[in-house]
Amino acid sequence: MGRALLLNATFEPLCVVPMRRAVVLVLMDKAEIIARNGGELHSERATLPIPAVIRLVHFVRVPFRNRVPLSRRAVFARDRHRCQYCNHNAENIDHVVPRSRGGEHTWDNVVASCRACNARKEDRLPQECGLSLRRRPRAPHASLWLIATVGSIDPLWEPYLPNGDKPSDHNGDHHHDHAVVA
Ligand SMILES: [Zn+2]
Repeated sequence: MGRALLLNATFEPLCVVPMRRAVVLVLMDKAEIIARNGGELHSERATLPIPAVIRLVHFVRVPFRNRVPLSRRAVFARDRHRCQYCNHNAENIDHVVPRSRGGEHTWDNVVASCRACNARKEDRLPQECGLSLRRRPRAPHASLWLIATVGSIDPLWEPYLPNGDKPSDHNGDHHHDHAVVA
């Protein structure tokens, strides 16, 4: 039956909900339809446009820290399955500062990495083995969490998703191209 993007009252994306839940929120006047996908739902009493995007009538506070849980899947989504050292296909998760050296399992210390870079790095810092990060790892915006959770994005949702997470190919800080991987 599909899913709908749920926005906070502030239009900030919150999560993706099953269609049944979206319809209930609308019928209970807890949410309003912001974008529809063109179809209609029929019940005995009413006809309702199928919602693609709904918005909560009342603001819900979401603790910032809880927005994007750190998971392997979410890291791969943030880093677009690219090794953050050499841009090849990523297969591993790498701690920039190794855990054995006090590195934390946090968004700013975890990157997607190819097997070769991961193996080359071992328990060293990137600069100790001639690797450099293509961009500074950061906690992704909520939209990345949506992608990681849902797997694909309805084009109707796109106007409501922030697009500040697109990886820059012109990252001014790092113009080292490919690290040579033996
Ligand atoms: Zn690599």
